[in-house]
Amino acid sequence: MRIVSLLPVGEVDRAHLELLAEGLVPILRVACSIHTEGLEVAFAFDSLRGQYHSAELLRRLMKQPAVETWRLLGVTEADLYIPILTFVFGEAQLGPASAATALVSMHRLRQEFYGMPPDPAVLADRLLKEALHELGHTLGLRHCPAYRCVMSSSHSVENIDLKLAQFCSTCAPAL
Ligand SMILES: [Zn+2]
Ligand SMILES: [Zn+2]
Repeated sequence: MRIVSLLPVGEVDRAHLELLAEGLVPILRVACSIHTEGLEVAFAFDSLRGQYHSAELLRRLMKQPAVETWRLLGVTEADLYIPILTFVFGEAQLGPASAATALVSMHRLRQEFYGMPPDPAVLADRLLKEALHELGHTLGLRHCPAYRCVMSSSHSVENIDLKLAQFCSTCAPAL
């Protein structure tokens, strides 16, 4: 059985990870395990930007011992950036097989970030899609031109809301 390990990066409410696991299992046909011990984030903080360096966190994740883990997915509340972009929703090692690690942030998936009331269902839906998207990259998938496909690129939550938590028929065989 392929196991996707979910690892909190900084403080993350376990309920988010449990809900994410429930979503990932039937779509990827995997088992999920949830780590209780989280990864420290402070080292990746950039005080000028007030954000966390995504690539540094991903590199640290790649060093995590991941026994029997098929894919390791870090989940964080931290606002992530890479130097050439204002922010990223997540980042992944690009496939194939040796690329086993990805990271997603909930920071900009929350309705509160856009001045709206919290909506747990919307947050869970967006987190699942972003997790599938980044895990798709670890399987060698690139961005897909089909806008409903979970592998289409997203620069805003509006794009995320438009796509489905599904891989299109072109992308699905990579799973
Ligand atoms: Zn992408
Ligand atoms: Zn696709």
